[in-house]
Amino acid sequence: MFYFVVGIFGLVLGSFLNVCIVRLPNEESILVPRSHCPRCKHPIRWFDNIPLVSYLLLRGRCRDCQAGISPRYAVVEALTALLLMATFRRYGLSPEFVKYSALVMMLIVLIFTDLNQRRIPHAVTVFGISLGLVLSFFTQVDNRPVEWLAERMGLFLPGTVSSVLGAIVGAVTGGGLFYAVGEAFYILGGRQKEYLGFGDVMLMLMVGTFLGAPLTLLTILLGSLGGSIIALSLTLAAPRFRNYHWPYGTFLGIAAIYSALDGTRLLEAYLRWSGLAS
Ligand SMILES: [Zn+2]
Repeated sequence: MFYFVVGIFGLVLGSFLNVCIVRLPNEESILVPRSHCPRCKHPIRWFDNIPLVSYLLLRGRCRDCQAGISPRYAVVEALTALLLMATFRRYGLSPEFVKYSALVMMLIVLIFTDLNQRRIPHAVTVFGISLGLVLSFFTQVDNRPVEWLAERMGLFLPGTVSSVLGAIVGAVTGGGLFYAVGEAFYILGGRQKEYLGFGDVMLMLMVGTFLGAPLTLLTILLGSLGGSIIALSLTLAAPRFRNYHWPYGTFLGIAAIYSALDGTRLLEAYLRWSGLAS
């Protein structure tokens, strides 16, 4: 029953995320004007704006001019519903569910704006960084590296202080590491090509405030590894990908969603295997 409710909410919210994906990179308002067909400009009727259902009933075409509607609209709606159900399955009815739902939805927007237009709008990341910091007062952020240090120095960190500190350390780890890697590539590449944009740094600052340092590092590792494997195999498979500008933020976004929902399991397995935790 709860899953059904979460799924319906996911479809409706996914429909809103579609508006964000189209409008935010162009710095347009997400509230006005009402949605309209990009070709004939006809406003979309309320009964043609039902998530997923309308797309299927209209068979992916505008009712007025028959222009094809991008399947991305339906994909984003279905994806949002599925991921919110997965978030609910992982966290149940809890403050964490609200927190990670917010993160997942912001990441869906950034995954698609980077994929479509190579843009990671500050409207999302600045809001996300602020939200992550505020939520760290209410839900615990993984702060094990600092707690470990504090313990060695004989200091005791109260829960909330540790959590907020965890969000800040996570942001610095994510954004800082990413900035350093970007600069290194820039210098190694003879200062000719920007490998990582500032948008990626902002994305990782945001992820860091939500996940804390350990899962942020996992995100960077999985995103870079996954991105490199996909980029390399596609470049080898088809020459047209040789000068393709890869959407790094898309890979990082996917990795961050995985880390938020299932990363702890992988991280614990690694820590046990490497002997860092018993
Ligand atoms: Zn139309």
